Amino acid sequence: MPIPIHDPHQAPGGSLKRLPLLKAAALFIAAVCLCLCGLLYLQLEQSRRHDLALAQIASSNLTRAMAQQAEDTFTKADLVLTSLVDWIQADGFDGEQKPRLQKTFARRVQALHQLHGIFLFDKQGQWVVTSFQDLPRGSGVMDREYFKYHQQNVSSLAHIGPAIRSRENGEWIIPVTKRINDKDGNFEGVLLAGIKMSYFDQFFKSFSIDDHGAMFLALTDGTLLARRPFVEAQIGTSLAQGAIFQKHLPVATSGNAMISSVVDDTVRLYGYRQLESYPLVVSAASSRDAILKEWYATAFQSSVIVALVVLGVGLFGWVFIHQVRDGGRIEADLRKAQEALELIATHDSLTGLANRRLFERALEIEFGRGARQGSPLSLVMLDIDFFKRYNDTYGHVAGDHCLAEVARALKSCCHRKADLAVRYGGEEFAALLPDTDIHGAMAIAEQIRRSVMDKNITHSGSPTGYVTVSLGCYSFIPSGNDSLEVFIQRADAALYQAKNAGRNRAAVLSMDGGIAELLRSDR
Ligand code: GH3
Ligand code: MG
Ligand code: MG
Repeated sequence: MPIPIHDPHQAPGGSLKRLPLLKAAALFIAAVCLCLCGLLYLQLEQSRRHDLALAQIASSNLTRAMAQQAEDTFTKADLVLTSLVDWIQADGFDGEQKPRLQKTFARRVQALHQLHGIFLFDKQGQWVVTSFQDLPRGSGVMDREYFKYHQQNVSSLAHIGPAIRSRENGEWIIPVTKRINDKDGNFEGVLLAGIKMSYFDQFFKSFSIDDHGAMFLALTDGTLLARRPFVEAQIGTSLAQGAIFQKHLPVATSGNAMISSVVDDTVRLYGYRQLESYPLVVSAASSRDAILKEWYATAFQSSVIVALVVLGVGLFGWVFIHQVRDGGRIEADLRKAQEALELIATHDSLTGLANRRLFERALEIEFGRGARQGSPLSLVMLDIDFFKRYNDTYGHVAGDHCLAEVARALKSCCHRKADLAVRYGGEEFAALLPDTDIHGAMAIAEQIRRSVMDKNITHSGSPTGYVTVSLGCYSFIPSGNDSLEVFIQRADAALYQAKNAGRNRAAVLSMDGGIAELLRSDR
């Protein structure tokens, strides 16, 4: 195509720009969806952390209260034992002392309602005096852990042993014991204050924890002393293999940890604290599900809302992208139709060459360009010799075929991209040759003349016996305000001269309007 009629790469909203628009739309929609999901995640993660942090604070406070209560309970029992041991060691526990001791024991037990009873054992483990009226009968307590402990340890400090069932009445108690020495420091017996497990049970129950929560009191070696919920089979079992005793207590004497229970697989937030004065550990746990119950509900609601919004945005994006695509297709079709129309409007249907309209448009452009660049512009006008006779001899259909052949010959000689081959009128053609001087124009004219002759189109009406053409050349350097008509007229004048000089030749019109040269080349 000689002159660019429509350049899709330059057109606004052309195909080059549409692809990034579609991509940008898809990216934008994806980014919006991602941002929404990201925001949801951040917000939920933040509120989850917040809920867990609050639960940790609550758990720390709870374990501190439990530790305080346990410390008070054992300190009071310890004080009672200390004063009684001093008395027993000073005055002994023979026959006379027994009634006085019994009364004192009973009074102390009455005063401290966490106490189940106070028991004095001799070095054989037999009951000597208890806070109860009647002495139990039985084989004694030599088998008990606390008795063996004091037998073997000279320490005068209170000892807390694993929970036991009282041989007095079967009640679960936590034994706090002290060693009794004779005057020489030899083992003389054991004084025991039994703390009711039910006392801890009630204390534990006074706190509100969730259904899957737990609280316990244990020795530092992991032996379980008391627990909420109370499961009798678990009392005395060891928690030493659990994460709190294995992992967390060795690092810090108090803290929080999210642990999956080895007992029931429930994940709980455990708060734990080791007592300062006694080898005891308290712990309270809330199940993670209970802590995050409200969070789960909020997370579900927010996720549903965001999912709906994402779905809506995605749907909108899908529709939008499809519409843009359809729009693009329609636009491409329109563009093709427009190009086809443009082609029809600017080209000759018989020969496919540019028509006069396009020729005039090109002339205006080349006049401007030539003036700007100071470059010569040439025009070769061409007319078929004796064509009326050709028509008369061979008919109009053959005439049309002949026109198409001459057009092909003309076109084949317009080598440069800017050269324009034109069907000027019925059997008149033109070649517009930008940036070409008169010598170049003459050379092209001669090429055209030869090219037509080389077609060997028989023409009995022509003296040569073949179809020939006459050509008129004109060339000038545009100055900026030149006339198109004059330019064409001059080339036409040269053509007229070629005709007059005998046809089948090219003529040149010099700059001053006179005929400079007539060319005739025989085959
Ligand atoms: P000359 O050598 O002086 O040019 O003689 P000529 O017979 O070619 O004279 P002229 O240029 O005046 O003839 C034009 C003829 O071209 C008239 C017409 O029959 C024919 N013609 C013009 N347009 C067409 C066309 O589209 N198809 C056909 N077949 N013939 C055409
Ligand atoms: Mg003519
Ligand atoms: Mg003619």
